Amino acid sequence: MADLTTTLIHHPYVPPAGFAAPQPGVFKASTVIFPNVAAMRNFEWKDKTAYTYGLHGTPTTYMLEERLCTLEGGLQCLLLPSGLAAIANVALSLLRTGDEVLLPDNAYGPNKVLAEGELKAWGITHQTYDPMNPQDLAAKIGPRTRLVWLEAAGSVTLEFPDLRELVRVCQARGVLTALDNTWGAGLAFAPFDLTPGASPALGVDISVHALTKYPSGGGDVLMGSVITRDASLHMKLKLTHMRLGLGVGANDAEAVLRALPSMALRYRAHDETARILARWCEARAEFVQVLHPALIDSPGHGHWLTLCQTESGGAAGLFSVIFDEKFNQDQIDAFCNALKLFRLGYSWGGPMSLVMPYELASMRSTWPVYLRQGTLVRFSVGLEAVADLQADLQQALQASLA
Ligand SMILES: *Cc1c(COP(=O)(O)O)cnc(C)c1O
Repeated sequence: MADLTTTLIHHPYVPPAGFAAPQPGVFKASTVIFPNVAAMRNFEWKDKTAYTYGLHGTPTTYMLEERLCTLEGGLQCLLLPSGLAAIANVALSLLRTGDEVLLPDNAYGPNKVLAEGELKAWGITHQTYDPMNPQDLAAKIGPRTRLVWLEAAGSVTLEFPDLRELVRVCQARGVLTALDNTWGAGLAFAPFDLTPGASPALGVDISVHALTKYPSGGGDVLMGSVITRDASLHMKLKLTHMRLGLGVGANDAEAVLRALPSMALRYRAHDETARILARWCEARAEFVQVLHPALIDSPGHGHWLTLCQTESGGAAGLFSVIFDEKFNQDQIDAFCNALKLFRLGYSWGGPMSLVMPYELASMRSTWPVYLRQGTLVRFSVGLEAVADLQADLQQALQASLA
């Protein structure tokens, strides 16, 4: 009889197979046990036919990857510990000293910070282009341009670019495109099929998604994905992912798997409430501009209509307001502080509504011509009742600006 501790570690009981429940089981591992040495030598993780080490995949992460491919219309997926790590994986994999990367001027801030920090230090240059002007992008693509980042809509200013034209410009020049698809989330439009029905399909090469937002849906998980439709491009990204030792925890993958089935319903609810509140704000004198792609006066509204006004399409739960210049920063800060349901915090996609004031002038190379002067505040609309959120905006305006 073996020692009790030994027996507990090597316990012979195996539960019956065939257990089924709405949620899949969760597999946690660093070590993966091989049945024998031959299997250990033969098992391949790169094509997901087997398991070799927790970092290279478990049934839980393989399952999440496949469901995310279905969501975004891709064929291969990598999981990373944050949306920003997903952005960085793309950059580190595809860019080398002497290369240039182009970013839209409204790019997710930390993507620019990465370019200004690590990439610059490694001799990789970057330029920003006007996302609302495809000719500006065309003019900035040069012989050293290896990668162009796209975003639709911009995450703070919500202007909607002519995404199809931007992709066409890059394809004509043979430059890879990477879309930060966090806003669209695989629901507002299909990133790999921007002209549904057309053959060949027009699409981005890489879709990066901050799963932290709608796929998590709880404001309690950090994760990112990199999705592709090209096996060799995926393998290049995957080998960088492997060499850098990037992976995600099983509990976090489980949280996203649990939230994914309700994502489309949640996205629609965020969208509906955000549109009602954005329209309400449009009628308020305190604001000189309301930015939400479904509003007729919002920059790029026509492009949003073309790409997202489909039966399954839509818009996320974000909108921004620009306050009349007569209000000073103290008053706008007081407005943000006076909100009770919209809480002050970064990120979005969870049940709780959030607010954040931005210093737009410091974030852009120039103040865009299509934006009115004033201070910008962004709202991320949660899942609370629209009447309660509207009352909250009203009381905060009254308390701080009256
Ligand atoms: C939040 C966000 C990211 C980064 O996601 P993290 O998981 O917070 O690192 C990237 N892009 C956009 C547009 C985002 O909103």
